[in-house]
Amino acid sequence: MIRLSAITPSGPVQLGNYLGAIRRWAAEGTEEDVYFISDLHAMTTSHNPSRLRSLTREQLAVLIAAGVDPRSVAVQSDLVRELGALTWVLECTCTYGEAARMIQFKEKSAGRSSVRLSLLTYPVLMAADILLQGAHEVPVGDDQRQHVELARVLARRFNGTYGEVFVMPRSVVAPTAARVRDLADPSRKMAKSAKDAAGTVFVLDPPDLVRRKIRRAVTDDLGVVRYAPEEQPGVANLLEILAACTGKDPEGLAGSVQDYAELKEAAADAVIEELRPVREVTQGLLDDPAELDRARAHGAERSRERCTHRLDAALRMSGLG
Ligand code: ATP
Ligand code: MG
Repeated sequence: MIRLSAITPSGPVQLGNYLGAIRRWAAEGTEEDVYFISDLHAMTTSHNPSRLRSLTREQLAVLIAAGVDPRSVAVQSDLVRELGALTWVLECTCTYGEAARMIQFKEKSAGRSSVRLSLLTYPVLMAADILLQGAHEVPVGDDQRQHVELARVLARRFNGTYGEVFVMPRSVVAPTAARVRDLADPSRKMAKSAKDAAGTVFVLDPPDLVRRKIRRAVTDDLGVVRYAPEEQPGVANLLEILAACTGKDPEGLAGSVQDYAELKEAAADAVIEELRPVREVTQGLLDDPAELDRARAHGAERSRERCTHRLDAALRMSGLG
């Protein structure tokens, strides 16, 4: 059973990525699974080439440092030729209406004067990611479910028109591990690409910066430490972060802390300890480019081996070659 997940190098890896996704990939992932660093997807909006390259390397290093099986990690663009070829065939299987209907496209393009064509077509590239690897399951949040549905529509249509090539993927609800909120605005989730990084803890932030950011976290003026996500989202977020780092439950933790200052110090201590080994190993990998390159080449080779026959079949059966 192949499970496929991805992380986009749209910004430095943040605490939510780690607690909500990467840590679980390390604990539960198998060698069969695929973890893509989707640098091609990061190009659908304005990007800077050297920053994209360094964020991609950083993500690769963080995933490996966090203990994700290096054999299952691959940089998407290392398969750009294969993916580009299949994307074309799938674009010739997809209608304009199907792509234009994607809610994420509507949201991300709304009100913009200049929208890259790739923002419209990227769900087809995502379908190529999934179908080329023969993924059975794609764990996603609500925002990506529609894209996996499109991959299913395209797989079914291709198989029905030209012959059975693709495994039918299905979206599965990504287990609700920690959902980390922005420290400066707890009504939003923490995100790599947030415009203002004040409320975002990055995995590679030095400990004193992590502590400063957590000390400045927005709370409320009720002055009681309770786990009440609706009324006290800032406090609840700190309790959830503390819970995710200590393996305890947020309600229980609420009773063990006196005030907001103590909660913030406890959360800062826990986050710093949780991130320390990941940060140190990541730094070591970034300082040893040869080892990181080897891991990257190996991951690319593995995912290429897995997909070549399927790509060849798709090209041949649709009338190419
Ligand atoms: P972007 O701002 O570019 O959307 P992001 O931080 O939301 O960046 P993604 O690349 O969209 O990151 O997601 C990578 C993984 O991290 C996904 O599995 C996603 O569910 C998880 N994730 C992202 N943000 C959080 C968060 N705040 N809490 C828990 N999990 C998160
Ligand atoms: Mg996101």
